[in-house]
Amino acid sequence: MTDQNRKPTTTDAGIPVESDEHSLSVGSDGPLVLHDHYLIEQMANFNRERIPERQPHAKGGGAFGYFETTADMSQYTKAAVFQKGTKTDTMIRFSTVAGERGSPDTWRDPRGFSLKFYTSEGNYDMVGNNTPVFFIRDPMKFQHFIRSQKRRADNGLRDHDMQWDFWTLSPESSHQVTWLMGDRGVPKTWRHMNGYSSHTYMWVNTAGDKFWVKYHFKTDQGIECFTQEEADQMAGEESDYHRKDLFESIRDGNHPSWTLKVQIMPFEDAKTYRLNPFDLTKVWPHEDYPLMEVGKLVLNENPVDYHTQIEQAAYEPNNLVPGIGLSPDKMLLARGFAYADAHRARLGVNYKQIPVNKPRCEVNSYTKDGHMRTENVTDPVYAPNSYGGPQADPIRGEDATKWHADGDMVRTAYALREDDDDFGQANDLVNKVMDDAQRERLVNNVAGHLQDGVTDPILERAFEYWKNIDQNIGERIEKAVKG
Ligand code: NDP
Repeated sequence: MTDQNRKPTTTDAGIPVESDEHSLSVGSDGPLVLHDHYLIEQMANFNRERIPERQPHAKGGGAFGYFETTADMSQYTKAAVFQKGTKTDTMIRFSTVAGERGSPDTWRDPRGFSLKFYTSEGNYDMVGNNTPVFFIRDPMKFQHFIRSQKRRADNGLRDHDMQWDFWTLSPESSHQVTWLMGDRGVPKTWRHMNGYSSHTYMWVNTAGDKFWVKYHFKTDQGIECFTQEEADQMAGEESDYHRKDLFESIRDGNHPSWTLKVQIMPFEDAKTYRLNPFDLTKVWPHEDYPLMEVGKLVLNENPVDYHTQIEQAAYEPNNLVPGIGLSPDKMLLARGFAYADAHRARLGVNYKQIPVNKPRCEVNSYTKDGHMRTENVTDPVYAPNSYGGPQADPIRGEDATKWHADGDMVRTAYALREDDDDFGQANDLVNKVMDDAQRERLVNNVAGHLQDGVTDPILERAFEYWKNIDQNIGERIEKAVKG
């Protein structure tokens, strides 16, 4: 019996269908006919439901909310989103890095912390992580790094041997690896972790004064982490634990929030600072550049369609608004290309017309056509033109976030400064920040990881790597592994 209160099922063309249960056959036991349009449409759509997963950051979840600027930042940036009292609709996606779309949320891994601000001046994306640093500092190594974290060619398995092979041959990874093997390597939930830009960006005020800036989104829920044992258990019990936690918290009115703080470095300081401020493997110690409060991020709205709103969300570090720019961080400069390219490959060239990625301000661009275009293009389709089409405005659109660069073309590392060694900040983390109990868990986490398939000579190199970070910690790890 059809329930007259329910809407009738239709095809995608809106045509009412006869049955949700029975395909069209020749007699009740006979063959099916090819002109059963609704059956064919359902099967064909089903075969195409999965789009390629992100490579990396495939597993994640997200939500919507707002960002409110509560402090006067006008002396540092003219960006509308960071003017006191401005409230901006915002969208976030959290993720793990190495795991596939169905992998457990509680694997030890950095977490993505990507924000899209739908500002009055266009979309501003801050594509961050829950860690202030990264494993490498040159994008030439990024693809290789991710491959070493993913799966082997022969058996399709993840392999700690190749992970430690890459890390120990890349000593710049030591700070991020120490962070990862510490307590914060497995957050209890996405609500209980910080988010960082990690990269350095440029801010420019209305007078044209320039500053370097790093973002720190400090969780208002407090930091909470899982031990390795708790994480392993949760991976079996509820592999979507973080996604579920975020969704249920927001559904129940328990809206998570983060306080945005920034470190600001005057433009000229960068030239003489004791470490390269654009090196992604380093933090700026707080005592040099203290945190300044900017505002609050609140998540108060769940997606209604995970695929459409979260899986198809596309962030790109090149989505920068007036008053915010890039920096000479080589990883950041490469990400400017890589993200948009990934979206074109995964979602198609018109991905910015998918509602979650669409700016909430006027768009007057000259791009046209391409797969899955949904917005109408109007003439004239070229510039310059005599027919009243959009015209670039050198004042409103001025990109003031530029810096001076000069030199021969070379393939080389950043020039070394006084404090630019690979192990110093990892040592600070172990000795200045962690307490005895945290150091003990660090030793156990690393030893457990190394005991799971790491072989000589990589194993011996791993002991050396840890002794370079801290002699005592290295010896304790070696002893724990060798027994
Ligand atoms: P500070 O003592 O001023 O800051 C230490 C920072 O470490 C705090 O931000 C704290 O975050 C964070 N932290 C605390 N416990 C851990 C942990 N187990 N794992 C990772 N981070 C933790 O020191 P400095 O600024 O001089 O930095 C010293 C070391 O602290 C650095 O080498 C770096 O590894 C780490 N760190 C530094 C940050 C920075 O931007 N300067 C940011 C995060 C870490 P919280 O306030 O949330 O507890």
